[in-house]
Amino acid sequence: MSARLILAPGKERSLHRRHPWLFAGAVKAIEGRARSGDTVDVVAGGKLLARAAYSPSSQIRARVWSFDPGRSIDDTFFRQRVAAAIERRRALPELAGEFAPGHGLRLIHGESDGLPGIVADRYDDTVVLQLNSAGGERWRTALVGALLRFADCRRIYERSDADTRRLEGLAARTGWLHGEAPAGEPIIEEHGIRMAVDIVGGHKTGFYLDQRANRHLLAGHVSGRRVLNGFCYTGGFTLHALAGGAREVLSIDSSAPALARAEANLALNPALDASRAHWRCANVFDELRALKAAGERFDVIVLDPPKFAPSVGHAKAAARAYKDINLLACRLLTPGGLLMTYSCSGGIDAVLFRRIVAEAACAAGRDARIVRQLAAGADHPIDLAFPEGEYLKGLLLQLD
Ligand code: SAH
Repeated sequence: MSARLILAPGKERSLHRRHPWLFAGAVKAIEGRARSGDTVDVVAGGKLLARAAYSPSSQIRARVWSFDPGRSIDDTFFRQRVAAAIERRRALPELAGEFAPGHGLRLIHGESDGLPGIVADRYDDTVVLQLNSAGGERWRTALVGALLRFADCRRIYERSDADTRRLEGLAARTGWLHGEAPAGEPIIEEHGIRMAVDIVGGHKTGFYLDQRANRHLLAGHVSGRRVLNGFCYTGGFTLHALAGGAREVLSIDSSAPALARAEANLALNPALDASRAHWRCANVFDELRALKAAGERFDVIVLDPPKFAPSVGHAKAAARAYKDINLLACRLLTPGGLLMTYSCSGGIDAVLFRRIVAEAACAAGRDARIVRQLAAGADHPIDLAFPEGEYLKGLLLQLD
């Protein structure tokens, strides 16, 4: 028998909206014995409402597996959820090409695929699995079995080393879950550009798959123009800007290893004119100031910084940082210039981000118009009931 998680009065409201998180403050009592990762029955006013994974050390005390209280949470459940996640991607024409060998694609996107805290990215024939929740941790074996069956892969690597695991009381865990390390790193092609993916040591599962469509969009806006790519990581936006015919691309990152990888990625694409690429290992905040002081101007600027605000608690300091870099970028842009700017902070929503960027443009004395509102690609869906899924917000702005 599963333990019962009894909700305090009124705390079932979010469940009726089908939001999958139950916070510690909503829990009145646990009846029976529940350990980390166990499936519990969620009860309010004597009624069974859902089945969820229990996480005793996390503020998110339980994450709902199913809003059907009669649903068995077992290997079959995970097979069905994994198959459904892959199927919904296969059904989207814009992702069709990304299923081909030698491409990269997010197959499972956590809560938005009904698999809270579970991420799976495929790079060529390697799947990288990331478990960020007690429930995911419990069902590792079932998930590996389901991925081997449906994900069309030869090997599975675990990259469960995100900071959020600590909040779930889980230690970091990495290593091969199925198959052996391949001879080299997986190489994926994205709109004609080849990139090597460091699944062992790179950020997240090795690569920012979420920006695929946006990198392609950038390529269409840079012909003959001078581009600055702030926070370039392994060169994604840079390489696409070169492919789009940029006159020159200056790429900045504070990580020397990331820049070394970016240059190696450029070398994987001999058709690109490497003489147009310039790399600078620096803090973007300082470097933008220095470029302004030196009288430099750019026609297109991309800003894709790391998460300044992982949660709402960090929002204020993060807002200052976003305003700072966007203001500096606005000052560096030529008349008619384009600013492609992002926030991937969970603690800053799309409305707030737009307000911050508006203040930045205003402070720089520039009028700006939205050309496009940007988000993660279709392999990173946002469940309508789970607004937290909209972590990546972007704007493509045209300045006067
Ligand atoms: N746009 C990239 C992903 C960016 S990730 C892509 O499409 O792949 C954010 C990057 O910002 C990381 O590479 C990190 O090293 C870098 N970074 C973080 N803080 C920085 C700072 N203050 N100045 C410069 N780079 C920074």
